[in-house]
Amino acid sequence: MKCPKCNGTDSKVTDTRIVADHGSIRRRRKCNTCGYKFSTMEVYCKTELVVSKRNGMEEEFDPEKIVRGLQKAIRSDSASDRKIEIIMQNILRTIRDRYSPKISSENIGLIVMEELKQIDPIAYLRFASVYKNFHETNEFEQECKNLEQPSDQVI
Ligand SMILES: [Zn+2]
Repeated sequence: MKCPKCNGTDSKVTDTRIVADHGSIRRRRKCNTCGYKFSTMEVYCKTELVVSKRNGMEEEFDPEKIVRGLQKAIRSDSASDRKIEIIMQNILRTIRDRYSPKISSENIGLIVMEELKQIDPIAYLRFASVYKNFHETNEFEQECKNLEQPSDQVI
């Protein structure tokens, strides 16, 4: 990323924000050469990926939908944008590598939950309760228990 003032290529990210409406990432940078501060925007590319929905319809994959879901699930604090950024990178990589050119909406939900579980267990539960549309509290309680006992725990 070139500094607009001195063309230096060495800059440092001082702040990262997810822009809610577009699911895009805005970064504040500071040039390490001349100290000039500037902003950059990153927008998730819509891929060639097709999503098959439960009702049999297909639609174009839209990463912004996932970002909006994550924003609802993750408690907004100073770390939330960074969390979403990390999760989105992992999700998009997984989808691209394993599911291109077609993925079911169900699998997207599972991938999102898998990532959330590792980074923010509370947000994971919130997301899972909406996504899975739990009808029985038992099922939800079981999920809570599963979280309390991590499977990779050494006994
Ligand atoms: Zn500069």
